[in-house]
Amino acid sequence: MEKLIITIAPTGNVPTREMTPHVPVTPEEIARDIMDCYRAGAAVAHIHARDENQKPTHKVEFFAEILRRLDELGCPVIRQLSTGGRHGRTLEERSANLQLNPEMASLCTGSTNFPNMAYVNPPDLVEHLARIMLERNIKPEIEVFDTAMINNAVLLKEAGLLREPLHFNFVLGIRGALPATPKNLFHLVESLPPGSTWTVTVIGPQHVYLSTIALAMGGHVRVGIEDNIYYQKGVLAKNVQLVERIVRIARAVGRDIATPDEARRILGLKGNS
Ligand code: MG
Repeated sequence: MEKLIITIAPTGNVPTREMTPHVPVTPEEIARDIMDCYRAGAAVAHIHARDENQKPTHKVEFFAEILRRLDELGCPVIRQLSTGGRHGRTLEERSANLQLNPEMASLCTGSTNFPNMAYVNPPDLVEHLARIMLERNIKPEIEVFDTAMINNAVLLKEAGLLREPLHFNFVLGIRGALPATPKNLFHLVESLPPGSTWTVTVIGPQHVYLSTIALAMGGHVRVGIEDNIYYQKGVLAKNVQLVERIVRIARAVGRDIATPDEARRILGLKGNS
């Protein structure tokens, strides 16, 4: 089994300081949290940005500032910028941060419901984002909220817009999308094209046991306050604690942790320099 790639998703678009004092929102806080999580075992950082008012933003200067501070800290994690839809609707907004040439970016290949909104990813937008990533040599993490999104990615690969090996992130447990059950996870894994790598992101109280099943199956795991503000019932999480727990579970089941460079090899990253 390959070493385990742990992704930290420290901020997201939803958690506010009112919900949890532990969510990092300024570029400085986000970079510092990512550095702590790297030291604890994270190899990839899935990054969202917030503006001065904690509001999700697509503006490139906020992403640039986070990356600059990571450089300043000498943090070697793989930077994966979000092209998600809550911080912008147009192609220009959704793709703005790709001009920073991160090593990875998220790419959702279909539409789904979130608790209070539709997450809309029409085919032309997905194709445009995929084309920009291809041209800039940015590896997409294909965000899968529903089984059809796997096949959509295969169609994009056949159209020459995605390069193999494909890397998927199964997001389970969002109200409106796929429930976080082992059965759904098994079905998604069985539906992957051969040679793919995959990560699981579990939202809700099932996140510990379902992440454990995923890592025992050879999958990779994402954790962070973006996905779960609670460490356990009634106890708010710090990002680094969520990474530390996955490291402990992985070691207990005999799975080693990948460094960022090992993750680059596993994911087939060509690197941006
Ligand atoms: Mg995200």
